[in-house]
Amino acid sequence: MLNRRNFMKLGLGACLLPAVGVSRAEAVVSEEMYVFGTLVGVDVLSRNTDAARAAIADVSHRFTQQNRDWHAWKPGALGDLNRALAAGRTHEAAPDLLPLLHQARELARASGGLFNPAIGRLVGLWGFHHDTLPVGAPPHAAAVAELVAAAPSMDDLVFGGRRVGSRNPHVQIDLGGHAKGVALNQALDRLAALGHGNALVNLGGNLAVSGSHGDRPWHIGIRHPQGEGAIASLAVSGRMAVVTSGTYERYRQDGDKRYPHIIDPRSGQPAMHVVSATVLHPDAARADVAATALVVAGSTAWPEVARKLGVNDVMIVDEAGRVQLTPGMAARVHFAEPPASVKTVEIA
Ligand code: ADP
Ligand code: MG
Repeated sequence: MLNRRNFMKLGLGACLLPAVGVSRAEAVVSEEMYVFGTLVGVDVLSRNTDAARAAIADVSHRFTQQNRDWHAWKPGALGDLNRALAAGRTHEAAPDLLPLLHQARELARASGGLFNPAIGRLVGLWGFHHDTLPVGAPPHAAAVAELVAAAPSMDDLVFGGRRVGSRNPHVQIDLGGHAKGVALNQALDRLAALGHGNALVNLGGNLAVSGSHGDRPWHIGIRHPQGEGAIASLAVSGRMAVVTSGTYERYRQDGDKRYPHIIDPRSGQPAMHVVSATVLHPDAARADVAATALVVAGSTAWPEVARKLGVNDVMIVDEAGRVQLTPGMAARVHFAEPPASVKTVEIA
């Protein structure tokens, strides 16, 4: 995804305004970078190109730190914690990791365990703890069954101030379904604190905005899970996140069979039927978690899980290209082309 053009763009910085320094006209200053294993874009509406550029640099520096601290399998703060938990030791969690663990535990409970960041070993067993996509036959059924039977859960964690332990040595925390949402929230907070209250942050198709794009809202595309480009678009303004979890980008390829990277903790098997879930919510962390949980929930149970997680605006696409959406979402999205079928579903 990262190509030379993106590097160049980063190197050249924002080039929408003609000169260095303060401009009277408001314009969008954009930067792209590669972090969290994906292409990241930050757009800031500003009259001051240099200030906007400095703010984006600040945020991108923070992204790099977060990626290291919260990474599921590379060395860092979370890796240190996971090693301690596997060895049955307690560990003093890094200050910026601790709130994520507490929030992830709350959201895991609210999701009825469908969002379960304690299943890092299962995710690793399926081969998703590598930069490259896994290829070949699925892991042995017995190995999967053993990890499912061990039932690792965020509720196995024991907190004593900053010290964290686990009652279950099979707990391995993987914040891949949550951390980007937290990073989105923190990026918008930081930009606002630096005086940039009109911004759009895109972490590989997980987006959050604040304010507006001048005299119009921000326009956002939702990636087509089965084709090229966008399946739909919508306009958002104020503080809002549009987060999509899909099974189309990271998967294990075995011949013509694909096993996606979102795992159903109940079976230990990849979630095969919902190919993308999009959640619109002011809190990007909740939206991120919900999108992952709704993929696991599947095309019948998702409204109940959405209700439990407190999200109202949802769009689900299944493997046959059928779309289900809530009335709130239906009112906002515009489809690029009419989907195979569209059904509006009230959240119970
Ligand atoms: P993406 O990171 O591609 O936007 P998600 O937000 O859905 O997609 O996160 C998927 C990641 O979350 C997986 O790569 C894995 O690290 C982790 N994960 C997989 N299954 C679950 C699950 N049931 N609950 C929590 N995290 C999961
Ligand atoms: Mg997610």
